[in-house]
Amino acid sequence: MDEFSIIQQYFNVVPQRRDDVVFGIGDDAASVRVPSDKELLISTDTLVSNVHFLPEWDAYDIACKAVLVNVSDIAAMAATPCWATLALTLPNVNEDWLASFARGIHDSLAQYEIDLIGGDTTCGPLSMTLTLLGVAPVGKSIRRNGARPGDVILVTGQLGAASLAVSLLKAHNVPKDDKILLMDKLLHPNPRVDFSALLQRFATSAIDISDGLSADLSHICSASRVGATLARDAIPLHPLLPIYLKDKAVDMALTGGDDYELCFTLPPHYLGEFLAIAEQQGLVCYTIGMIDKAPGLRLTYPDGQCVTYEPKGYSHF
Ligand code: ADP
Ligand code: MG
Repeated sequence: MDEFSIIQQYFNVVPQRRDDVVFGIGDDAASVRVPSDKELLISTDTLVSNVHFLPEWDAYDIACKAVLVNVSDIAAMAATPCWATLALTLPNVNEDWLASFARGIHDSLAQYEIDLIGGDTTCGPLSMTLTLLGVAPVGKSIRRNGARPGDVILVTGQLGAASLAVSLLKAHNVPKDDKILLMDKLLHPNPRVDFSALLQRFATSAIDISDGLSADLSHICSASRVGATLARDAIPLHPLLPIYLKDKAVDMALTGGDDYELCFTLPPHYLGEFLAIAEQQGLVCYTIGMIDKAPGLRLTYPDGQCVTYEPKGYSHF
């Protein structure tokens, strides 16, 4: 099977859903229409075999993950994902693998009404790069650099399950139900596009938690030239963390990656209104701390003790 048959058989198979696609797969470039009141957001993430996933995982799951981590980046900008391109590098042609993989790509793109408009197919060590293009009203996308001293810091969900799943990959004594639940968190993150409209309206900065809360919040702090203090007890832990990790649970929630929840900041006078609207919309989020002038990250304990926390998270090099 050559490159062109792979594209035709597995990727150029879904009828175009969006009427803003002028043309998609088949030309040297795709063309889309961006309305004049919208700005275009572009994000790329690569998944490499044995780094981001194990080659023995189900190809369907690997494909979903490649889409979902990119959707999360667009969600972190408070934007709406619209179009995707896929650069796929395969060591060989395994048609069963390709069929599952393509199904995972098409299903997860369909879930967010994203059209696959192009890509590249090459031979080499297994990896995939998805580029996702999204839109937000002009001037309304949210960056990392807008946090101000006094802003409150929130996260959109419980943390640590995905990294707990990684740490238990080789463990044999984990009950089956826990393993299934944790692997689902690792393989099928839930990118928080549901927060986009609220973030556009209220947030001063946002980031998705891909490398761990402490590392990702530090990116907000550096970009905004501020620091942050978190209430240790307010950090929402996935309920399995304390069971498996006891007093190390908070540390994993602070340093573990792959959760793909959002961390964002709000001016304090908006907090009440924000939480009220979120609740009306059935969106849960947690207030975990405050931005301050002094650089660095600090943790406060219930007894009032405040300690410096060295941010740790995943880094490739
Ligand atoms: P070129 O030789 O001009 O780079 P290709 O032969 O690589 O073009 O690709 C042919 C068409 O198929 C292009 O429109 C490209 O965007 C698309 N394409 C290639 N690989 C993929 C893929 N894995 N998924 C989706 N579209 C793809
Ligand atoms: Mg090409």
